[in-house]
Amino acid sequence: MKIATILCRAGTMDNYAYIITDEATGVSAIIDAPETFPIVQYCDEHNLRPTYLLNTHHHFDHTDSNLDLKRIYNLKIIGAVYDKHRIPGIDETVQEGDIFKIGSLEAHILKAEGHTTGHILWYFPKEKVLFTGDVLFNLCVGGLFEGTASQMFETLKKVKALPDEVLFYPGHEYTLQGADFAAGHCTDESTLRAYFKLAEERLRQNLPVCPITLGMEKVCNPYLHAETLEELQKIA
Ligand code: FE
Ligand code: ZN
Repeated sequence: MKIATILCRAGTMDNYAYIITDEATGVSAIIDAPETFPIVQYCDEHNLRPTYLLNTHHHFDHTDSNLDLKRIYNLKIIGAVYDKHRIPGIDETVQEGDIFKIGSLEAHILKAEGHTTGHILWYFPKEKVLFTGDVLFNLCVGGLFEGTASQMFETLKKVKALPDEVLFYPGHEYTLQGADFAAGHCTDESTLRAYFKLAEERLRQNLPVCPITLGMEKVCNPYLHAETLEELQKIA
């Protein structure tokens, strides 16, 4: 699986879109559509014609370019059944437990309520890759726009249950926003220092901080420390 990370809405919302390609079949898919130009530019430069657009949730900064990209590539838009009334241009729906194929790649759908009520995660267990949208960022999480704290708690529990080697790809570059908070809640100085060092190096080179392993995130992200709903509510 080849993964391209594309910064969109740079300097304002700092969204990430991703383009994944199944190297065995050449089939590719865009994950979230915050801005048309940078995505099309990448596809042009790399001779890609994506077959699918996979949405994590309905928010405009993830779906604004759905219709543009559909028009340009005649691609199929796949989103959560829970969001079918509010994802622009949606063609096919998926839900918890489904497996969606991108060529030979298999995405497992995890329902992830909290940030919104229809949010899903796109998880590729074989490749050990997880696209988290606005559920999990580097060192922080997405705010509660629609769901409850208890839904968020259940979602984070699901994320924590995934293997430590899984690399996660968030919907925004918010590492610096989360850094101070993480430092204040640090329980493992040396791992946090290693995380900051890696983040600084990547940002200095104008690279995205992601991907980070879930194992490192579980140690450094305060929201993943909460073992009860009450603990999560204290920090959220
Ligand atoms: Fe969002
Ligand atoms: Zn967002």
